[in-house]
Order: sequence, then structure tokens, then C-alpha cells
Amino acid sequence: MTQCLNPGCLKPNPPEIKFCQSCGEKLVLAERYRPLKIIGQGGFGITFEAVDEYKPSKPFCVIKQFFPQAQGTQTLSKAAELFAQEAERLDRLGIHP
Ligand SMILES: [Zn+2]
Repeated sequence: MTQCLNPGCLKPNPPEIKFCQSCGEKLVLAERYRPLKIIGQGGFGITFEAVDEYKPSKPFCVIKQFFPQAQGTQTLSKAAELFAQEAERLDRLGIHP
């Protein structure tokens, strides 16, 4: 299965296809990461289990989509800052033995 990343759609699609059958959006992020299913949803956005199709072993990975529920410029800016910090931490964690 390939999960559509469009927050207004989020429909499941068959594996191996490139565009969502419901909304027409591209399904593979950065020509590389194919979202498989939603594994979490919170105040910052949606987390998808995904597969890295660029690497020969096609390892599982995670796509975190920034889609904050908060309102107000300051709150959104703080949310963006925290999201970026989390992305850096997860990136470092990914190379830890
Ligand atoms: Zn879609």
C-alpha cells in the first residue's frame, strides 16, 4: 500500500503507483521515500511509516509531516523551531550504533 501524503486526502493507494488515485498528488517524497501507512498523529502533524526506495535494501524509515494544529504566528514559529530540533535529534539518532 502507498499512503497519500496530502493532508486533505490521506487515501490509501496500491503499491508501486506514482500518483494518488484520489487527488492526483505525487506519492513518493523526493523521488525516494514511499509512505506506507500512518503510524501517528499529533499536534505537530502526521507520522508515516515509509520505505526508502533509493537504497538497494529498501529500509523502512519515517516521514514526519509538519502540519501544526496551533494558531497564531508566534505559536507556529515556535512549533516550527521545535519540529526542526526534533528532526535534527532523530537524524543524529539514526547514525548511532
Ligand atoms: Zn491523495
